[in-house]
Amino acid sequence: MPELPEVEIVKRSLKNKVKYKKIKKIIISNRNLRFKIQKNFEKSLKGKSIVNVSRFSKYIILTLDNYNYCLIHLGMSGTLHLVNSKKKEKITNLSFYHSKILPKKHNHIKIKFSNFTVVYNDPRRFGFFKLLKNKKELKKYFIRSGPEAISSKFNFKYIKYKLLNKKKNIKNCLLDQTFVSGIGNIYANEILFYSKINPTKIAKKIGISEINKLIKYSKQVLNLAIKFGGSSIRDFKNAKGVSGLFQNKFKVYDRENKNCIRKNCNGKIIKIFISNRASFFCEFCQK
Ligand SMILES: [Zn+2]
Repeated sequence: MPELPEVEIVKRSLKNKVKYKKIKKIIISNRNLRFKIQKNFEKSLKGKSIVNVSRFSKYIILTLDNYNYCLIHLGMSGTLHLVNSKKKEKITNLSFYHSKILPKKHNHIKIKFSNFTVVYNDPRRFGFFKLLKNKKELKKYFIRSGPEAISSKFNFKYIKYKLLNKKKNIKNCLLDQTFVSGIGNIYANEILFYSKINPTKIAKKIGISEINKLIKYSKQVLNLAIKFGGSSIRDFKNAKGVSGLFQNKFKVYDRENKNCIRKNCNGKIIKIFISNRASFFCEFCQK
């Protein structure tokens, strides 16, 4: 599943290509994604220019010239491909997941511009496209979302207040999108390792210095992952054909039974399941 750093990379690649470009036509071959694509979708986007491409959490947001918004969520297996009308490119995928070139099947949405087409491919169809009519609808859509981990709103005062009296474990809190947006399972594991916090620790017992570590390392881990081009366990190439390297930088994720990499720690990484999600941590240095 694409996590925030991957979505950020897709957003940047997409923005480079489509900002200020006019949508000529939309072709939909399957409307049944996670949510059914709205009836007026094609009509509403045709002829509009894209004035901005932004991201909130794992959502890509296209701003149209009439200030309608198109939300894109890649779900579990969604990829965006850029297909040049004139020359055949070696790599079309704007993300690191799945096929580097456009697959033959499951191309559900085609957004045509004058010289190229952006194609949405999604074998499992958990992703979606949704049109929002104005800024108010956009705001409403994210009203229950917590601040992004990399934003200044994810700060001491906010975290302290939110974790006060919380009886669930800290790992589930980090994955709770109403508490903080955009931290997925891989990065929750990594952030807790850097912060030396045991993932099963009850949230209300998280101390002052631990909150400060969570703030620091949430930003550091995610920003580093963005810098290294996102991460993926599988098939890992971006649109320019450069390998993303962040998976080589995981400190705990997927390192079961290996030695803890922290200096002066003799612990081994153990794997447990918390709410059905794989959790890796060092039994010695994460308290
Ligand atoms: Zn350790």
